Amino acid sequence: MQSEKNLKAKLYSRYPLSSVLIYNGSTILHFLLGGIGIALGYSFSSWAGYTFGVLYLMFSFIEMYMVMPLTVCPNCVYYRAKDSLCISGLNLFSKKITKEGDLKDFATRAEGLFCPNNLYTASLIVPILAMIPALIVNFSIILLLIFLTVLGLLLFRFFIIFPRVACLHCIAKYKCPQAGAMGVRNR
Ligand code: SF4
Repeated sequence: MQSEKNLKAKLYSRYPLSSVLIYNGSTILHFLLGGIGIALGYSFSSWAGYTFGVLYLMFSFIEMYMVMPLTVCPNCVYYRAKDSLCISGLNLFSKKITKEGDLKDFATRAEGLFCPNNLYTASLIVPILAMIPALIVNFSIILLLIFLTVLGLLLFRFFIIFPRVACLHCIAKYKCPQAGAMGVRNR
């Protein structure tokens, strides 16, 4: 029984700085390359590439760095845990910009079509979907490289960051719908 307990992943009330940097670094790179890829892919139009690229950048950064800390973080255990640092570090920012919510509402992050979880997933997938037709009608090696890099960042997030770096060690994993989907609750 004891050895089984020891095999469980360590839970972090403060993530190592390296984990926070990996998480935010890959997120920001994903958004920036996604925006550049959309702008480049539709650059054959005098307005479409620039407009859609900028709109995507605004959507992704606002969703991640404003909507999340305003709506999800106040209900998260990291918001109220003493000296805590979550994987995104947004618990610290959230504390500065909004009031504490209710732990019971944390799972609502995954409820409804336009819930924060779905918007977050959309911010990761939209540039990949947008670059596929652009590759067909406006192919270039640089666009292909951007597409493959963004796709790689998405796979890295789903197969490495979530299950091994973030959700596995999260003290919110017993309540968080995403941790349930990742199957990390009993690890
Ligand atoms: S379990 Fe994962 S998605 Fe949920 S709060 Fe923790 S790190 Fe974020």
